[in-house]
Amino acid sequence: MTWVDDPAFGAEHPFGPQTLPYGVVDAGEGPLVAVRVGDHALPLRSIEAALGEELRAVAWAGSLDPLLAAGRTVWTTLRARLRELVTATAAPRGATLLPLTARSEVRTLLPFTVGDYVDFYCSRHHAENVGRMFRPDATNLLMPNWTHLPVGYHGRSGTVIVSGTDVVRPHGQRRGNGGPVFGPTERLDVEAEVGFVCGGPTARRVPIADAADHLFGVALVNDWSARDIQAWEYQPLGPFLGKSFATSIGAWITPLDAFAAARIPVVEPEHPRLDYLVEDQPWGLDLRLEIEWNGTVVSRPRFADMSFSCAQQLAHMTVNGATVRPGDLFASGTVSGPEKEQRGCFLELTWAGREPVTLKDGQTRTFLADGDTVVITATAPGEDGSVVGLAEVAGTVLPAEVT
Ligand code: MN
Repeated sequence: MTWVDDPAFGAEHPFGPQTLPYGVVDAGEGPLVAVRVGDHALPLRSIEAALGEELRAVAWAGSLDPLLAAGRTVWTTLRARLRELVTATAAPRGATLLPLTARSEVRTLLPFTVGDYVDFYCSRHHAENVGRMFRPDATNLLMPNWTHLPVGYHGRSGTVIVSGTDVVRPHGQRRGNGGPVFGPTERLDVEAEVGFVCGGPTARRVPIADAADHLFGVALVNDWSARDIQAWEYQPLGPFLGKSFATSIGAWITPLDAFAAARIPVVEPEHPRLDYLVEDQPWGLDLRLEIEWNGTVVSRPRFADMSFSCAQQLAHMTVNGATVRPGDLFASGTVSGPEKEQRGCFLELTWAGREPVTLKDGQTRTFLADGDTVVITATAPGEDGSVVGLAEVAGTVLPAEVT
């Protein structure tokens, strides 16, 4: 029996002692770095005496930035210390719990300063489906580079928002009959993705073998996408305003160390990898995602279906000399599986709007309507039969602003 009085704090629950993700909460007195225990937030400041002097700066910070910069040794020490503390039978002196459920008392904030943000395109099923829809006459579903490198683009870090933040329907230019038209997007979509939060020393040309020193943790990402704006603007330089208006990230970052039992081999490549992408045993994560549209689960993508590992993505991203710095974020790309009910975006799920989805209230949807809410969650197997959770990434669509 632990001193944490929370029925959701058990090995069978996604936020039991096997998970311990970090976030930042505000209970009315400014931002506090916290660890999530079940449905509660435990501010590190409230247990600083038990954490010790070396972790004081991390515990007193108003964001995860100092923790990200501190590096793997500190990450390991803090996690071990927290695990000991929360599974102990008695509370450390002076410890207080803040209930997460009382939203009026605790608000979760964007937990770190997002540096550079890169979005990849690592799901073969997603890339092939997009190929089928947009280039139906092409002889190859994939571009010739796709099987050799993790395709990606630099996104907009300034509009990365924390889960729970509303998303205003963006305006933009799209193709019309007889020329482009301007107005609110008519094809607002989601992309269910897995994001990796970077930390440790600033580095360039990170070899695969060193990737873990720069990978702090994992969070769900929703890469909101305006498909009509995207389709008109994307050639020849790729995504721009169709995606830069908002990218949501879960409020709690689950440390990479929590996924030791969830590592699985990535899909075998069809060509040998070039040297800098050769990984002894490339590993992915056995994460099972769920996408809920206004309360109806419409898809269950599996992260196991991705074709490049996070270490390969990081190695590729820095191989040209570009640096990785604490707070950088990179996301996997839409997670889609081979089956229809495993597609990670509504473009694929409704086949560009031709096959509407019926929600449990009887309404049908192709793309997002104003007022719609999308919640993405994920779990992975943990040690000894436990379950490791990724915090939800949720967002509600607000009507376009009047111009
Ligand atoms: Mn994306």
